[in-house]
Amino acid sequence: MSKHSNKDSDTTITIESPRFDRPEVEIRASTRRKKTGTAHWSGSRIVVLIPARIKGRERTAFVDDLVERLMTQRPQNSAGDATLEDRANQLAELFNNGVMPSSVRWVKNQQARWASCSPASKEIRMSNRLRQCPEWVIDAVLVHELAHLQEVGHTARFNEIANRFERQEESALFLEGYALGLGLRIEEGDVDVISAD
Ligand SMILES: [Zn+2]
Repeated sequence: MSKHSNKDSDTTITIESPRFDRPEVEIRASTRRKKTGTAHWSGSRIVVLIPARIKGRERTAFVDDLVERLMTQRPQNSAGDATLEDRANQLAELFNNGVMPSSVRWVKNQQARWASCSPASKEIRMSNRLRQCPEWVIDAVLVHELAHLQEVGHTARFNEIANRFERQEESALFLEGYALGLGLRIEEGDVDVISAD
């Protein structure tokens, strides 16, 4: 143990509760830090180190920026849209009779749905919030949305396709608990039916 490790009286720690769009954030504001900030993962929490002199709105923006950058870089599940799309295409071959989406992307503005699908345009959107979930949950949600490309409603045929992914029900339970823990109300509907032009 270094003698210096306890000399942390110049650091103020604040914990921010998880929100829909991000996990718990621990903010360490240090007087030793002059200009730059940095962020890293500690388990499921994000730890942000910032200069103590930054206050108020400037501080909020500074922290938001660091968190945002880290979240879009996370090695596990972080992968951007291209990787997500590759994954969806693999799952489509395995479980969805090879019916592929036209695009799959992460979105930030989806607050009450884990994912959504537009069968007409074959687009799938996944909430950023799922990035913190295990891979198999992300896969289950992808397979669910893919199944909507073949069957719009949550019908027996839909279930037959979606449940080809073994952990589908387990994933639904996982997400129910996850939503509860985060205090979220998730909507039932996940299909956007747009009249074809
Ligand atoms: Zn659905």
